[in-house]
Amino acid sequence: MTDFSGLAIAGRIATPDDADWDQARMAWNLAADQRPEAVAFVESAEDAAAVVRFAAENDLRVTAQGSGHGALSLRPLEGTILVKTERMRGVEVDPEAQTARVEAGVLSLELAEAAGAHGLASLPGSSPDVCVTGYTLGGGLSWFGRRYGFACNRLRAVELVTADGEARTVDAENEPDLFWALRGGGGSYGIVTALHLNLVPVAEAYGGALLFPAEVGAEGIRAYRDWAADVSDDVTSVVRFLRPPDIPDVPEFMRGKAMLTIDAVCIGDQAAGEAAIAPLREIGEPILDSFGQMPAPALCKIHMDPEQPVPGLGHHRALGELSDEAIDAFVGVAGPDSGTPLLLTELRQLGGALGRPDPEGGALSHLDAEWVMYGVGMAMGPEMSETVAGGLDRMHEAMESWGADGGYFNFADRPCDSDAILPPDVCSRLAEVKRTWDLDERIVGNHAVALDPAS
Ligand SMILES: Cc1cc2nc3c(=O)[nH]c(=O)nc-3n(C[C@H](O)[C@H](O)[C@H](O)COP(=O)(O)OP(=O)(O)OC[C@H]3O[C@@H](n4cnc5c(N)ncnc54)[C@H](O)[C@@H]3O)c2cc1C
Repeated sequence: MTDFSGLAIAGRIATPDDADWDQARMAWNLAADQRPEAVAFVESAEDAAAVVRFAAENDLRVTAQGSGHGALSLRPLEGTILVKTERMRGVEVDPEAQTARVEAGVLSLELAEAAGAHGLASLPGSSPDVCVTGYTLGGGLSWFGRRYGFACNRLRAVELVTADGEARTVDAENEPDLFWALRGGGGSYGIVTALHLNLVPVAEAYGGALLFPAEVGAEGIRAYRDWAADVSDDVTSVVRFLRPPDIPDVPEFMRGKAMLTIDAVCIGDQAAGEAAIAPLREIGEPILDSFGQMPAPALCKIHMDPEQPVPGLGHHRALGELSDEAIDAFVGVAGPDSGTPLLLTELRQLGGALGRPDPEGGALSHLDAEWVMYGVGMAMGPEMSETVAGGLDRMHEAMESWGADGGYFNFADRPCDSDAILPPDVCSRLAEVKRTWDLDERIVGNHAVALDPAS
């Protein structure tokens, strides 16, 4: 057992001897049973540097966590100090320059609100309480993605503590290879303490969700697919089967009902948004139509992602073209008669700026796929975990024929190395960066990069 009494930081070190250890080691994803050597609640770059140096002196590893949304994708944490950044919540917006400096623990909605106060927007995804850092290091598929690309490519600079215990700021001029790796290559290259981001001039947008009975099925998804093929890059959308449980936390009209939902955001004014969405309203009689012109921060909630910790198991697959046969297979495994145990099974449209190589971009410059499929089920206990995992496997296998190469880092919820997700040339370059900056593999991220990808 390591003696942590010699590790002094302004924040707090929690160890298994503490009465609140189970609380301290908990992640947002309650299905993750994290068992690190200690948890460091850091408050500054100095704290993070002290933890990394202590780890090096004691032959330990270090991994960072903002919220724990991605906790299930981590490998077991034996011999590892878990750095939690939740106390680092500062956001500074420079409205003139349209930029923000965001400390490592800031949540997506917090940044969106700070930027929104100046008529600007970040590139938020569907969850208001993912941490901006993990979301951005792994790519960042946002409601503005088809217009502005992955959030990681809006990074201007990153403040981090590298494996040698030094606090640095890297950007396109200073350590450009490390800066490149941090933009979509995940958290394996240092403990990030702050991000510097370019914001976008979007004060409001037309967004919301259409909820139909799931019985609109394959026909509804085909109509959606044909619509999505023609929309401009200002529109980013998702179609999914949703089965909220029959519990009091869920609004009564949705409880226990299988639905097909289409969520979208259209950058522009209300009239343009209404015109863009109009064809979708013809799919059927909606149970709910929540579309409207809204301030950009409100877009963080249109997908109705849980804002409290939940035990969710997820799995994903990147897909190419969504043919009629692909849609039939999807409905067969996720639709109203599928018997799936999953809470949701969705198809997010890529394309636009998400699909265009960006020569100035980072490790995830773009994604060579048309769609990304993502499924999630709630795992309350071992038996249900097994049932949900089986449902996820069936979803994944059913869509194999339409799969694209690789995957999407942030949706790869099961532990796997980067080479199962990112292209070989990207992994080779990431390995070079890892060898340069962390040959001892002191820093652990989710989806590690093999030091020698060829082996
Ligand atoms: C409900 C839900 C909705 C989601 N919606 C979207 C979406 O719309 N778009 C999208 O792209 N993704 C989405 N995701 C996926 C999400 O972006 C990933 O799970 C991401 O890893 C979350 O980042 P986090 O920091 O909150 O999670 P964490 O689990 O805290 O971190 C994940 C990983 O990021 C790295 N990391 C985090 N902080 C640091 C740091 N300070 N220094 C170095 N590395 C760090 C680590 O490798 C860590 O293992 C969603 C996930 C959920 C559960």
